[in-house]
Amino acid sequence: MPSPGYWRGIPSRLRLEAVRCSSCENVVYPSRRICPHCHGTKWEPAELSRTGEVVTSTVVHVAPDDFAMEAPYVLALIETPEGARLMLQVTDCELNEIGPGTAVNLEFRRIRAEGNSGILCYGFKAVPAG
Ligand SMILES: [Zn+2]
Repeated sequence: MPSPGYWRGIPSRLRLEAVRCSSCENVVYPSRRICPHCHGTKWEPAELSRTGEVVTSTVVHVAPDDFAMEAPYVLALIETPEGARLMLQVTDCELNEIGPGTAVNLEFRRIRAEGNSGILCYGFKAVPAG
């Protein structure tokens, strides 16, 4: 079964909804209680763009069981124009094609099937833009 954290995370994952700190305007995703920049606790919703730029990336050769079929694959830290940073799998690309500065689009894709239960998990993946 997917973890409780996965289910709790669904609404924000589906909407790609981040939050903006009311004090310092820092945008974070996923939402959290305390701002990592100013330790503020007041937030307003912030919808993220479906675009971003790779900050760092790594090629995963030995994947966790649920992702074993997909290895090797690229995992990248992506920054959206709002300044939120997301760790996402990059798909539809050559492994060596992705690096700092690569422009990507964020697309809603199937992430994985949950083992024998066959439950499909959906979420955002990054795809090179253009
Ligand atoms: Zn803040």
